Amino acid sequence: MMRKWLLLLIVFLLMGVIYNRLSGSGPQKDELVIRVEKNQVHEGNLLLVNEELAVPPNHADAEAVNLYKHKELLNGFGLLDSTVRLSPDLTKKFASMIADAANDGVDHFLINSGYRNNKEQEALYEELGPEIAAVPGHSEHNLGLALDIGSTTAQMKDAPEGKWLKENSWKYGFIVRYPEDKTNITDVVHEPWHFRYVGLPHSVIMHENHFAFEEYLDYLKESKSITMVVAGNTYVIYYYPISSNTTLHVPTKGSYEISGNNSDGVIVTVMKSQD
Ligand SMILES: [Zn+2]
Repeated sequence: MMRKWLLLLIVFLLMGVIYNRLSGSGPQKDELVIRVEKNQVHEGNLLLVNEELAVPPNHADAEAVNLYKHKELLNGFGLLDSTVRLSPDLTKKFASMIADAANDGVDHFLINSGYRNNKEQEALYEELGPEIAAVPGHSEHNLGLALDIGSTTAQMKDAPEGKWLKENSWKYGFIVRYPEDKTNITDVVHEPWHFRYVGLPHSVIMHENHFAFEEYLDYLKESKSITMVVAGNTYVIYYYPISSNTTLHVPTKGSYEISGNNSDGVIVTVMKSQD
């Protein structure tokens, strides 16, 4: 009797192994297996910050440097004053974008503001009020991913610098975060000077579909996956809801980036390998 049960148990175990092989719950050859911690919902380049969603704790303060004291980073642009801070990484991305603007004869750029800590945002909010400044804790400048860009020739809405960025910044991973025709979605007045870094291919998809950032994140959530070819690279983007530490089985192989949306999930962007 005992041996019969043992035999049945072995048969069941074997069936389990075969089923797992067929159903793909084990690692597959063309998938990424990524361990995700719950707090990753609040980390990365695609964090949404607005009136509803606050800036999560981040490393921006540690990464930002005073650009006035780092003259080696001032390539092709000036500063509004000696207090402007930004991470060297984002400063270099900005400088490499405006190097292309200079090739088009547009070269009177200023950085008016970069990273701001909560204290600085509070002071600004008290000075300018809620029509112009974001509530402290709800400014993209606290994330270290936003820049206010100016021109030495005119207001950004009229300046060649503003026009060039509006037409081209999406090719470099930047977006006009508060566009003129999306104020009903962003709930922020048109700011032709405020640029937000989201990275490629996201800025390209937003541009092609004419999405505000809020709309783009909703679109990712609705789509199971999006495939996009940018500059010869094939990207596949996935959204996963995250409520606890978990392991994702992403059905595409390649190098990847992961970012939270700052509310309920992560976006995995895979750059497909060529083979
Ligand atoms: Zn701004």
